Amino acid sequence: MLLFHRLRNWRKNTISAPILKAFKKVLPPMSSTEKEAIEAGTVWWDAELFSGNPDWQKLMTYPVPALTRQEQAFLDNEVEQACSLVNDWQVTTQDMDLPEAAWQYIRENKFLGMIIPPQYGGLGFSAFAHSEVITRLSTRNSALAVSVMVPNSLGPAELLVHYGTPEQKDYYLPRLASGQEIPAFALTSPWAGSDAAAIPDSGIVCKGVWNGEEVLGMRVSWDKRYITLAPVCTLLGLAFRLYDPDGLLGNQKDIGITCALVPRDHPGVEIGRRHFPLNAMFMNGPTRGKDVFMPLDFIIGGPEMAGQGWRMLMECLAAGRSISLPSSNVGMSQLTVRTVGAYSRIRKQFNLQIGRFEGIEEVLARMGANTYASNAVRIMTAGAVDLGEKPSVVSSIAKYHVTERARSVVNDGMDIIGGKGICLGPSNFMGRAYQQIPIGITVEGANILTRSLIIFGQGAIRCHPYILKEMQAAQEADPTTSLDNFDRLLWQHIGFSTRNGLLTLASGLFGARVFTIQHHAAPETMKYYRQITRLSSALAFMADLTMLSLGGSLKRREKISARLGDVLAQLYIASATLRQYENNGRQQDELPLVHKAVQQCLFDAQSALLQTCRNFPKRGIGLLLRLFSFPWGASFSPPSDALDSAICEQLMQPSATRDRLTVNCHIPKDIDDPVHAIEQALLYAIKAEPIEAKIRQDEKNGIFKNHPRANDRDIAQLAFEMNRISTEEYELLATRNRLRDTVIHVDDFPPDLRNPAAFMNIRNTRQGDRT
Ligand SMILES: Cc1cc2nc3c(=O)[nH]c(=O)nc-3n(C[C@H](O)[C@H](O)[C@H](O)COP(=O)(O)OP(=O)(O)OC[C@H]3O[C@@H](n4cnc5c(N)ncnc54)[C@H](O)[C@@H]3O)c2cc1C
Repeated sequence: MLLFHRLRNWRKNTISAPILKAFKKVLPPMSSTEKEAIEAGTVWWDAELFSGNPDWQKLMTYPVPALTRQEQAFLDNEVEQACSLVNDWQVTTQDMDLPEAAWQYIRENKFLGMIIPPQYGGLGFSAFAHSEVITRLSTRNSALAVSVMVPNSLGPAELLVHYGTPEQKDYYLPRLASGQEIPAFALTSPWAGSDAAAIPDSGIVCKGVWNGEEVLGMRVSWDKRYITLAPVCTLLGLAFRLYDPDGLLGNQKDIGITCALVPRDHPGVEIGRRHFPLNAMFMNGPTRGKDVFMPLDFIIGGPEMAGQGWRMLMECLAAGRSISLPSSNVGMSQLTVRTVGAYSRIRKQFNLQIGRFEGIEEVLARMGANTYASNAVRIMTAGAVDLGEKPSVVSSIAKYHVTERARSVVNDGMDIIGGKGICLGPSNFMGRAYQQIPIGITVEGANILTRSLIIFGQGAIRCHPYILKEMQAAQEADPTTSLDNFDRLLWQHIGFSTRNGLLTLASGLFGARVFTIQHHAAPETMKYYRQITRLSSALAFMADLTMLSLGGSLKRREKISARLGDVLAQLYIASATLRQYENNGRQQDELPLVHKAVQQCLFDAQSALLQTCRNFPKRGIGLLLRLFSFPWGASFSPPSDALDSAICEQLMQPSATRDRLTVNCHIPKDIDDPVHAIEQALLYAIKAEPIEAKIRQDEKNGIFKNHPRANDRDIAQLAFEMNRISTEEYELLATRNRLRDTVIHVDDFPPDLRNPAAFMNIRNTRQGDRT
């Protein structure tokens, strides 16, 4: 015992103490805003992936997100009704806004108060239900989705629920829930976008007159831009930096970022002008104010919360970010994959459905797998929020990777439908999604920044079992406690890294079979759990060596940080995909999608690891990392081509897989709607195929040889006249032709497009010109 004690002391003083000294030197300098950002929120499955040995049993026992009866009824009734009140073409070319009936409907039916607890009159929906609503609205119209999304994301309601004074909650929350107030939240300024903590907007504590009395308040000046709902909001959440030069509140002169709620009609508030974001018609615009006096009671949480704004924003960011963009972008992906899958069956070139060409098959299958994986991420992440997590790293992963996958799905969809997607008009079901994709990429943390700085930057510190604790130990004021704590953590950390290094090497040499998986996974997916564990161990080992060798300079090495973040993210996406497969009851018809999605994640994670090794700033360490992780070279291949045709088969016909994959799509009942038309045209295209095959056979047999063929319409007529097909078959072909033409034709307008009325003077097959 004594010997052990002596040895420990020797270790502490001879080894740990100099390391602690060096560690303090390489610790990146951190401002309080950075510290608050890093420490905000919680870690969840991301921490398991970072541990090198994820506990699969844990993942599989998290409850499966489900809707209550009330939430399901809301989705089936109110959400469907809201969708039916909006016509995208009308919104984007004539009204330049949601129709008044839609505004009224969403306000009166509490769409703006989904996250407000029922005791304040809100719907108090789960995060999963909230996500389901946004996903479905996004398959209809972006203005509708965004107008609902923003009040339920980070903004006045969320901040009031967590930090409001009882008076503020009692007054504002019921008004926000009932749609009597429309909120907006203004943080971004022309000079501070991504670096939002650097906002120059300021308030000075001073005395002034409010409601006829002299009170202590603030004189606030701001210049904000890009603020969603600002032009129509009645209640403006405002972030600014508060100063107290005269010491009216205490000794602190720079109090810090503060959030206040300012009524729109407060004297001095300039608001109402609009930006024009890529033809999306949700309300968005600037707001300004110069030396606007407001009482301290306007501060969210009252005067005690002055200076706490950044912490409040960071603490609440994760919940909204887990839902808004992942849901709206999954909505876009679902709509794209559903309509484009059908279009690939309806549209023929070279006398073949375009989806039968291998080139299209490859692209359509990729769209399917991306949509499956994104949906899995959306559901799993919303589920984490419902478990009470504020998953800061996971929400960044979901935001970045779902929006990037949506960009890929929509781009792919546009490529498949060709000119049909390019010519705008009421029958174009994709053009607006394509236009608006960059919005999701930019908001709630622009994607390049999120990938380069946030995912691994925050993940490495938050998810790592020891780093944050070691940093806290190093910053401990009492030197003895600091060294004691640091010593204990350091040796645990060394054990952790050694274990991961050895496991990485062993699995590199002998394959992922060295890992035993506790969870009773489906046999058809078991290998993936092992492979994810293998890459998780490589990530943990690589992350440790990277932090050890690069220290504080890692913050500037964004390419390294981005790639390691990619590994973490791909492992998260693969885990979510496997979980979705389990949650859906291991549907065999989904397997090709699951295989493709997971294999792509593993391949991408491997590429990111190899790129990290190849570009590692210290060559020797890069080689060592590669030798440990992939001693025989790359182990994972991209998904095989063989999966593609199985996936496309499901996406090009009405199928259970297609329905599950696109379950959130609003399918309009209006026969003039392009999404409705495409659904009908798909049904008839399939029914017509055996009849066409019969005609083709007759053609091959020379039945029509004396009647040169012009097009399939003529030959069907001929087959009918020659009694080769029945009246019903002929009529079915005629219906198919009519529906197909509705789908493939595009709109045209009078020559002078300067007149907005021209956009309502539409002509296409539905007006009867070629039916
Ligand atoms: C339609 C729309 C709605 C919005 N709604 C709101 C709202 O309601 N309220 C609100 O407050 N704000 C809102 N915003 C603002 C939005 O959050 C910002 O646009 C976003 O934070 C990015 O800021 P920026 O556009 O000024 O880009 P910049 O900050 O100028 O960034 C430019 C580029 O630099 C990259 N970049 C920046 N720093 C780094 C780094 N360290 N490493 C790598 N890359 C980096 C970014 O990723 C981006 O690609 C909205 C914006 C838009 C366009």
